[in-house]
Amino acid sequence: MKALITGGAGFIGSALVRHVVGALGWSAVVVDKLTYAGHLSSLAPVAQAPGYAFAQVDICDRDALDAVFARHQPDVVFHLAAESHVDRSITHAAAFIETNLVGTFNILEASRAHWQKLSGPAKERFRVVHVSTDEVYGSLGEEGLFHETTPYDPRSPYSASKAGADHLASAWFHTYGLPVLISNCSNNYGPYHLPEKLIPLTILNALDGRRLPVYGDGTNVRDWLYVDDHVAALCLIAEKGEAGRCYNVGGRNERQNIEVVHRICDLLDALAPKEHSHRELIEFVTDRPGHDRRYAIDASRLENELGWRARETFETGMERTVRWYLDNEAWWGPLRAAGVGVKRQGLPA
Ligand code: NAD
Repeated sequence: MKALITGGAGFIGSALVRHVVGALGWSAVVVDKLTYAGHLSSLAPVAQAPGYAFAQVDICDRDALDAVFARHQPDVVFHLAAESHVDRSITHAAAFIETNLVGTFNILEASRAHWQKLSGPAKERFRVVHVSTDEVYGSLGEEGLFHETTPYDPRSPYSASKAGADHLASAWFHTYGLPVLISNCSNNYGPYHLPEKLIPLTILNALDGRRLPVYGDGTNVRDWLYVDDHVAALCLIAEKGEAGRCYNVGGRNERQNIEVVHRICDLLDALAPKEHSHRELIEFVTDRPGHDRRYAIDASRLENELGWRARETFETGMERTVRWYLDNEAWWGPLRAAGVGVKRQGLPA
């Protein structure tokens, strides 16, 4: 298999590249603009592999995209490139509209042009997996789960731009027959996660003895998914999923934000003890504007139809993650030194 992976230098994209090139032995070309969120150091484990190629391309540049498709002739496109940080979308929405909407349009059109030139088994086999988020469904109350049939109700500039991109992907299936599949997943965590997001930020601030900011009263709920479980789901969707269908991906690991932070503190108390418990560093700060209350995913379609199961529980995945950050300062040290995650984003002027 030859994969074209947009956003392959980001958190989830790099995990996908490391898996398909490193473990499955596929060829993969990474298409990435290398914004503040993209880091070639996340691809270092596979950078010398024979099947790996990298193209520094902005997905808003259609000509450059066409050249990558012509050169690499992919069997499958995994589209992950996006502006992905909700807090940044509150203060810098324009980039979200450009990359998440215009960029997705370009990926669909470049994929369609490529697919139309294929014939026989190559045309049959071709797939586009559009990677999206459960945030398109809005916010849940205390009860209930997001299903694939839940109406879209995005609340932030980020989730609105992803919702629009999902509608484009769906339209390209219905209008042109392009074999697109959509995945909507819950919050991912794991190695190589940029330290501006809750889990790595908490781990690294705690190691530094800095305050651990928790938004609002800390009771917002997210459904945590270990990134390698997500990667396995994406490969399964590409290989066995039905074109035109959506698949929710979630780890059945609902936790309040404060529970997540407590778990990290307790793991660090055991693995990197200090004089006082890391919990003493917790500080409740002004909530994110429009902070969705609760997300929770029903992943039964993916489980029943494609046989996917999350392998990590929240406890095992979190321990792996904390250990990874303890062992990999060479990756996150330069990012912290450059100020990533040090200043809070997303408080409108
Ligand atoms: P990320 O921010 O870590 O990585 C995004 C990557 O896209 C970066 O490498 C960046 O350089 C690249 N990129 C941004 N703009 C680009 C452009 N115009 N052209 C080319 N490349 C560009 O994101 P992530 O957390 O790995 O998320 C990947 C995908 O999964 C996104 O589409 C996101 O919406 C979706 N998603 C993420 C989560 C999560 O918890 N992280 C949850 C649900 C869905």
